[in-house]
Amino acid sequence: MLLTIPTTHTPATDLGYLLHKNPARIQETELAFGRARVFYPVANEDLCTVALLLEIDPIGLTRRNPADAAAEQYVNDRPYVVSSFLSVALAKVFGTALGGRSKERPELAEQAIPLRVEMPVVPARGGSDLIARLFEPLGYTVETVRYPLDPAFPDWGMSPYCRVTLEAECRLSDLLRHLYVLIPVLDDRKHYWVGEDEIEKMLRRGAGWLADHPDREFILRRGLKRRGRLTRLALQRLTGEEDSDQELHLRQRNEEEGALERTIRLNDIRLDTVAETLQESGARRVLDLGCGEGKLLQRLLKSKQFERIVGLDASVRALEIAHRRLRLAEAPPKVKERIELLHGALTYRDRRLEGYDAAALVEVVEHLDSARLAAMERVVFEHARPGLVVLTTPNREFNATFESLPAGEFRHRDHRFEWTREECQAWAAGVAERRGYSVVHRGIGDEDPELGSPTQMAIFTRLES
Ligand code: SAH
Repeated sequence: MLLTIPTTHTPATDLGYLLHKNPARIQETELAFGRARVFYPVANEDLCTVALLLEIDPIGLTRRNPADAAAEQYVNDRPYVVSSFLSVALAKVFGTALGGRSKERPELAEQAIPLRVEMPVVPARGGSDLIARLFEPLGYTVETVRYPLDPAFPDWGMSPYCRVTLEAECRLSDLLRHLYVLIPVLDDRKHYWVGEDEIEKMLRRGAGWLADHPDREFILRRGLKRRGRLTRLALQRLTGEEDSDQELHLRQRNEEEGALERTIRLNDIRLDTVAETLQESGARRVLDLGCGEGKLLQRLLKSKQFERIVGLDASVRALEIAHRRLRLAEAPPKVKERIELLHGALTYRDRRLEGYDAAALVEVVEHLDSARLAAMERVVFEHARPGLVVLTTPNREFNATFESLPAGEFRHRDHRFEWTREECQAWAAGVAERRGYSVVHRGIGDEDPELGSPTQMAIFTRLES
C-alpha cells in the first residue's frame, strides 16, 4: 500500500526537515503488522515527494489471531488499501510531524504550504462522494476516480475502491492529522480493539477541526466502530462546552426530526439578540465572558462599532476552536488588533477585564457552582464593572415542554442549576442592589404563555458612570 505526498513549496526539500526523514535515504520501520518504508521518488528545489510504502504481512496477522481462521484472513484487501494500518504507520513513522513539531524548521511547521496527497486505492464505503464530504469542509480539493469491480466484467458494477487525490494549502501536521482520523472512517474498519482511550486519541488528533466538521457525529461513530456509548461520550466531550442546547438536541434527535433545527435556531436567536443588545447600547469595547467556541465573537467582529472585543473562557479547548472559527491565524493585522482571546476564570479578579463598556455572559452562570456565583458577581460587577452586562441563562420552567427531558433534569449535564424566572429575577435584583446597577428582564425564543421563553435574559445597567 502506497501513499505519496508531493509539495511544491520552495525549497521543496524542506519536506524532509518537516518529516524528520532525510530525502537521500530509504528508511525502514518495523511495525507489529508489517514494515513501513519511507523514500522520496523526487527531491529537488521545486518538487519533493515523500512516499510511505506499507507492507502488511497478512499471514503473520492470521497466525497471531488463530481462533479466526476464515479464508478472509488470507484473501482480503488489507495489504493494498489505505486503512487503519496506514493511520497507525503514519503516527509511528511521522509522529513528530503529526504533532506539529520540527527541530530544524519550526516556523515552517506552523505554516500553510501547498500539499497534495495521492492514494492509489482508498476504500470508500458509503459512496465515492463520501470522500468529498469528509475532506472538502477541511479545505481540500478532492479528486476521486472509482474503480470497477472487474474491468473485464462491466456488468458487475463498481467497487468501493477509489483513486484519490487531495490538494490543499495547509500545515503538514493538519494534513497528517486529517488523514490519521479520516482514513479508517472511509474504510469503516479499525484493526484494533476500540475502547475509551480511542476517544482521547480521536479528540487529540481532531483538536481544532473535528468539532467544526459538519459530519463530526458520523466521523466519531465510524471511528469508534459504531459503539453507541463511546460515540455519545465523544460527542459530549467534543461539544459539551459549546452550547447547552446540544445535549438536549441529542436526547430529542431520535424522537423528533425537527429538533436539530429548533436547537440551532434558538442558539442563533439568542446570540443575535445579545449582539443586537450590545449594538444598541452604543458600546465600543466589549467582553464576552465564557465565550466558548466564539459564536458571539464572530457576530461582534462583523460590526465595525466594536473597536475592541475580548473573549474569555476557562477552557483552552474552547478557545482553540474559537481561534479557528474566527480564522485568527490568517486574519489581517487590523482584525488582530480588535480582538483578543483570553484564558481565565470568572471566579478570580482579572485586571485584563477592566475598562470595558459592556460584557456578555451567555449561558455561563448555570455552569458555576452556586457557591462560586458570589465570586463571579464580584469579578464582573465590582472589579471589571462594565457599563452594561447582558446575561442569559435557561428558564427551567420551560423545560416542561421538552418531552424527552425527564422532570427535574437539566438541559445539560454540566449545568449546576437552572433557574425559574422568579429565581433568576431574585438573584439579579440582589446583584443590582449590592453593586449599583439597574436590571430589566426579557425572554428569548418562542414564548409559552404560562412557562415563558426557553431562554431568559437579564440586562444590567450601571447606575453611576
Ligand atoms: N457563551 C458561549 C458558551 C456557553 S457554554 C455560547 O453561548 O455559545 C459555557 C462556557 O462557560 C464554556 O465555554 C465554559 O468553558 C465557560 N466557563 C464555565 N465556567 C467558567 C469560569 N469559571 N470561567 C470562565 N469560563 C467558564
